Amino acid sequence: MRFSRAFFPTLKEAPSEAEVISHNLMVRSGMIRRVAAGVYSLLPLGLRVQRKVEQICREELARAGAQEVFLPTLNPAELWQRTGRWDVYGKELIRLQDRHGRDFCLGPTHEEIVTDLVAREVRSYRDLPQNLYQIQTKFRDEIRPRFGVMRGREFTMKDGYSFDRDEHAAEESYAQMVEAYKRIFQRCGLSFTVVVADSGAIGGSFSHEFMVMADTGEEGINVCESCGYSANSEKTPVNISLPETPGATLEKVHTPGVHTVDEVYTFLKLPAEQVTKTLLFTADGSPVASVIPGHRELNEVKLKNVLDATELFLADAPTVEKLSGAAVGFAGPIGLEGVRIIADDCLEGRGGLVVGANETDHHYTGAEEGRDFEASAFADLTVAEEGDACPDCRKPLTVRRGIEVGHVFKLGTKYSETLEATYQDEDGGTKTIFMGCYGIGIGRTVAAAIEQNHDKDGIVWPMPIAPFQVDIIQANMTDAKCREESDKLYAALQSSAVEVVLDDRDERAGVKFKDADLIGFPYKVIIGPKGLKEGQLELKSRRTGETEFIPLENAAGIISARITEEIETAGSS
Ligand code: ATP
Ligand code: MG
Repeated sequence: MRFSRAFFPTLKEAPSEAEVISHNLMVRSGMIRRVAAGVYSLLPLGLRVQRKVEQICREELARAGAQEVFLPTLNPAELWQRTGRWDVYGKELIRLQDRHGRDFCLGPTHEEIVTDLVAREVRSYRDLPQNLYQIQTKFRDEIRPRFGVMRGREFTMKDGYSFDRDEHAAEESYAQMVEAYKRIFQRCGLSFTVVVADSGAIGGSFSHEFMVMADTGEEGINVCESCGYSANSEKTPVNISLPETPGATLEKVHTPGVHTVDEVYTFLKLPAEQVTKTLLFTADGSPVASVIPGHRELNEVKLKNVLDATELFLADAPTVEKLSGAAVGFAGPIGLEGVRIIADDCLEGRGGLVVGANETDHHYTGAEEGRDFEASAFADLTVAEEGDACPDCRKPLTVRRGIEVGHVFKLGTKYSETLEATYQDEDGGTKTIFMGCYGIGIGRTVAAAIEQNHDKDGIVWPMPIAPFQVDIIQANMTDAKCREESDKLYAALQSSAVEVVLDDRDERAGVKFKDADLIGFPYKVIIGPKGLKEGQLELKSRRTGETEFIPLENAAGIISARITEEIETAGSS
């Protein structure tokens, strides 16, 4: 590609909504442009990277025996009604009607369509196992689309589904997909971990997430350095031990303008552990209060699972005021009418607590669960933190941050039962198919790669997914020899199948360098009159910043060998 003809609209300034570096750099380097919240156009550079990730997925999935299909985005409601998900999927599902008034949704995932397909075509045990995948656009009306393509409302997913005769065979398919996923992310040049994940309300199943480690990751990961335990902190069980507090009497105290837990214990001069925090939610339309120790963070996934709720929203200020009868910051479990109270395990029967008084500018001290208020259920409700005991070996856990790029689920017969995906076994009996499902966020993987590979000047692409591998910088636009050699090298690299850009723009060398660093080409070749006199080119690595001089003759051969080696190293490390 000649830069002068390319559609690489680079920008000096980041868009104001870019909260994370990958979003910032994807826009500035001209990979994506925003169309609406969570909806993006992929420009040539963005599409090239995405295609490379897709190609790696295709190769590794083929190696694992999976076959590619392409399922429709437009999904008839009828299938979703049969599995019950038409109702439970909630507002994330984008629904629409055709001209005849029939209901449809835009597929956010494809268990319904693919299970129905298999239910119709698979007859006998001889037709199993099957493993089908697609790379397709998904639609989810995310409550908070953000971070560019990392959490979009329209995004590309690789989604796969396995169909097996029984649970044992399904577990083998699952293990095979885990291996394929490891190879995929390794080949993309990413550093990642596989963690045990929450699998929501699907009983009896398990799931793992593939996390790209990055400080900006939305997910907390608990790792035990000592026994190797590793889980999403939504999943890690927490066992808080609060110090004993001797029986205290309930007292209402005036706490003017004191809202936060820190403000409360500082104001009352009490240990932080005695202060609780009450958060109000709407769970499937009903009000719920969660009460946890104030120094801990509520784990909404755990709360959602305890309630077996489909939709859980933190109550907004007017709802809090209506339910508690007080300004935000003063809700508490005592006298909270018509609200289901779920308290953390560690608060059961516990006294000497500070709770909101459901009266603006007031708290209670000396409150006791069971005496002054009663929780309707107790559960492990908090997020695991640094130093909490490992659930396996009790040694302290470490918290790291990650981006969930892939998710594998053991589904069992959840979908095959409702959609009647059965087969005839060897003994003639009818059996239900066992399923697994496997997703990779393609765009999110691209963004995660940038979170992991960038510096102050721009993106530092891992070779296997770089949009182009080499950028030839013609340093002097008026020098005929310089132009001639640039053109020659450009042609030679192209015929060696190197993906190359020739920066032939009538711009200063400094401008070309800046764009090259921003876009993140792994190698720059600088062709200037000085080097040419000595029959040499300057080859500069984006990652190490090292410059070396290579002979003009055979430059294409040297560069192309280097690239091949780097791609192979990523695949085998
Ligand atoms: P999250 O917890 O981040 O919302 P999820 O559990 O809803 O993810 P899955 O349904 O398991 O995600 O989807 C499979 C993969 O698709 C995820 O691992 C992620 O990489 C990607 N993905 C999910 N939602 C989005 C989104 N809104 N934008 C981009 N990629 C997404
Ligand atoms: Mg989601």
